[in-house]
Amino acid sequence: MSHIIGRKCVSFCDTGCVKVCPVDCINGPIKIDGLGMEVEELKKTGEFYNLDKPQMYIDADTCIDCGACIAECPVDAIYSNENEAIREGDEEYVHKNYEFYGLKFN
Ligand code: SF4
Repeated sequence: MSHIIGRKCVSFCDTGCVKVCPVDCINGPIKIDGLGMEVEELKKTGEFYNLDKPQMYIDADTCIDCGACIAECPVDAIYSNENEAIREGDEEYVHKNYEFYGLKFN
């Protein structure tokens, strides 16, 4: 089980979640590392606004399900587990989080 970033993050990418994650497992929108610095750089240069559906992702293999990121997200984009995300109609994003890190959700 892992926390999952859902559709509400798309084109928003606040990085508050990244700053509180104790195991540094939130990245995106393009690179699987960078811990939010990538978003800040892309927003600074304006490139961010030309990206197709940019969002942040959680590495399910590293997430320890501490829940710290949830309260930091201003648009409530983070689910506490895959089942919750699926229940809320965000199954596609469960797969997106896993696939971003080369993982597969079963
Ligand atoms: Fe990081 Fe904890 Fe959120 Fe998992 S639940 S992504 S470990 S802050």
